[in-house]
Amino acid sequence: MSTMKKLFLMIVMAGMACSAAAQTGRKPAIPRDAKLEAKIEKTLSKMTLDEKIGQMLELNLDIMGARDAQGQWQLNEVMLDTTIAKWKIGSILNAPATRAATVEQWQRWIQLIQQKSMKYIGIPDIYGLDHNHGVTYTQGGTLFPQPVNLGASFNVELAREMAEVTAYESRAANCPWVYNPVVDLGRDPRWPRIYESFGEDAIVNARMVEAEIKGYQGDDPNHLGKYHVGTSTKHYFAYGAPWSGKDRTPAYVSPQMLREKYFEPFKAAALAGTLTMMVNSASINGVPVHASYEYLTKWLKDDLQWDGMLVTDWADINNLYQREHVAKDKKDAIRLAINAGIDMSMDPYSVDFCVLLKELVQEGKVPMTRIDDAVRRILRVKYRIGLFDAPNTGGKGYEKFGSKEFADKSLRAAEESIVLLKNEDGILPLQGSAPKVLLTGPNANQMRCLNGGWSYTWQGSKAEDLAERYNTIYEALCSKYGQDHVVLEQGVTYNENGKYFEENPPQIEKAVAAARQADVIIACIGENSYTETPGNLTDLWLSDNQRQLVKELAKTGKPIILVLNEGRPRLIADIEPLAKAVVDIMLPGNYGADALVNLLSGEANFSAKLPFTYPREINSLNTYDYKVSEEVGTMAGAYDYDAKVSLQWPFGYGLSYTTYEYSNLRVDKTLFGADDVLTVTVDVKNTGQRAGKEAVLLYSSDVVASIVPDNRRLRDFTKVELQPGETKTVTFLLPAKSMAFVGADGRWTLEEGDFMLKVGRLTQTVTCKATKVWEEANI
Ligand code: BGC
Repeated sequence: MSTMKKLFLMIVMAGMACSAAAQTGRKPAIPRDAKLEAKIEKTLSKMTLDEKIGQMLELNLDIMGARDAQGQWQLNEVMLDTTIAKWKIGSILNAPATRAATVEQWQRWIQLIQQKSMKYIGIPDIYGLDHNHGVTYTQGGTLFPQPVNLGASFNVELAREMAEVTAYESRAANCPWVYNPVVDLGRDPRWPRIYESFGEDAIVNARMVEAEIKGYQGDDPNHLGKYHVGTSTKHYFAYGAPWSGKDRTPAYVSPQMLREKYFEPFKAAALAGTLTMMVNSASINGVPVHASYEYLTKWLKDDLQWDGMLVTDWADINNLYQREHVAKDKKDAIRLAINAGIDMSMDPYSVDFCVLLKELVQEGKVPMTRIDDAVRRILRVKYRIGLFDAPNTGGKGYEKFGSKEFADKSLRAAEESIVLLKNEDGILPLQGSAPKVLLTGPNANQMRCLNGGWSYTWQGSKAEDLAERYNTIYEALCSKYGQDHVVLEQGVTYNENGKYFEENPPQIEKAVAAARQADVIIACIGENSYTETPGNLTDLWLSDNQRQLVKELAKTGKPIILVLNEGRPRLIADIEPLAKAVVDIMLPGNYGADALVNLLSGEANFSAKLPFTYPREINSLNTYDYKVSEEVGTMAGAYDYDAKVSLQWPFGYGLSYTTYEYSNLRVDKTLFGADDVLTVTVDVKNTGQRAGKEAVLLYSSDVVASIVPDNRRLRDFTKVELQPGETKTVTFLLPAKSMAFVGADGRWTLEEGDFMLKVGRLTQTVTCKATKVWEEANI
């Protein structure tokens, strides 16, 4: 290395150390690579203001092309030239008309974009796709179960594998950046996007996001290489908490809930090295997150020393004036957002941003230091991914794209993600080699509802042609039991040309007639696919037609197995008692039907548990970690009222074909201090006749606290495989501080007194010796 280079490096490193230490004394969330930082500084030092601002804008691919006479979408080189040579745009996203393209198309389009980016600006583009549960927008790739299913598996390894395969297949299609993982927390079943994260609990989401980041980005966030992609953990944060239950509407969240629950998985993602995050489109307690310096800059960038890049969600700077009314016009909105800490604006259809931001800089309303910081972060992502050295990937070396190996992983993940909720009289597994089955319900013979939204198309609709080679439930049942044994009479069907909730006029009597010849009825009910605002609902009950179908079928006296295929738990309290068995498959993906049939037939064993609370009543939408006083028993005396937490099935509930016995719960320290780590062990025995996997969940409850404590909180979990008769000892290391809560003064607090630890039905009381209050925002 030349002396000049060495000197430059030393200056850069010293600068980095100073700014990090000066702000919080924390080390950067991702340890920096000095050589890479030097390259960033060098590139930055040569850029003009126009080039810098161009890097901060992300456009939608759709505006750079059009359909030809044959209806094929073609990239228009002149438009692309303008985008890159004139406006110096640094990022492009999306699939044309949000429909999956082929690997070859992606190769061509992204290669051309990279060629022009290198030629005109010398900086590679960062292309982003919503590859959410597999390669959504790439035909022929592997689709996995949706994240809510991975949550139900309680197996972080499956999440890691899903991400690893998706990274590989994205890079095969030349895409280096995915808008995933999603950790919004699915705490309100009314919200249409709860299936996109790993259920309602903060720790489940935190562990899953860490695993996925490893899978997507590999082990070294500074050097991703050709089989890994940058992640965009989203949507930062509390996006899953809309007061109205409708997508992109305001959240009102207590400071405790915000810090302890909604922030937790994002903190985990930052510390695990997620390269980018996408921001919540809505507001928290009246403050749009895109305009919040507190949340974007202070909580994330300063407090955690996270040096990644923040991208807006779809057109969300515009929403600051058009929807949220906190800015008077677009320019004002850009000023607010960029000063709050936004680094890249996803402004899909317009380059106004470049003009307006330049004016703001020239008028001194956005400081140059903020622009440099944003561009430094963008360049850092591009360098970390390796785009400067290899702007393109794919072709040779990606032979496993769409392979059997990947399909098997998806099938296994689906098997581990399907929850058995009821099995009266052991009706499952189905007895005998050839039961006569009536298969009914709108979800019985269609791929769309198995995959859910973000599957080949944005809404997951109109894509059956791209999923033809996978089995619907009907096809999977036929291939197991033979077509002679399966009668398909759906009774209720969806209107594929309407909104996701629209159904065709029902033909329930046909299904009832067919039921008379059957030994068993499998009713596949639930929802059609959706995401975002088109998935809003007005009634959480499962549709009248579908519930009527089940009620009429029940009158035949034939045993009913309900298969719930839905992106959120729809109310079924009136039909659940009519069923002998209930299986919640949620959104198990392309191999979900095969997995279901393996489970129904007994070839595979159930091992999933609900990652959310399944509600029973519309006015009782609790989560498992409700405040103790949400449940009030009947008062003595004149008053005769109560407040009951009523639910259909609790969080963490799920049956299996075998049984487990928990014993010998012990803790190495029953008296502990704030800095201790408790070792908690429990023996788990498979007491049944079949091998199985058991998710073991460790909870704690703060018995008395200075603010109303949560009923209980999940602190850790793991999954063990046990042969019949086998016992394994499970060990959890529980840092005492993980039982702290955010006090009334906003500070992390661990109070002296008793805590109850719980695993299975076993409990153990432990006692904290002395109260500790932390000054740090994150402990
Ligand atoms: C969604 C994001 C998505 C983005 C880009 C938005 O409408 O909220 O989740 O990543 O579009 O497609």
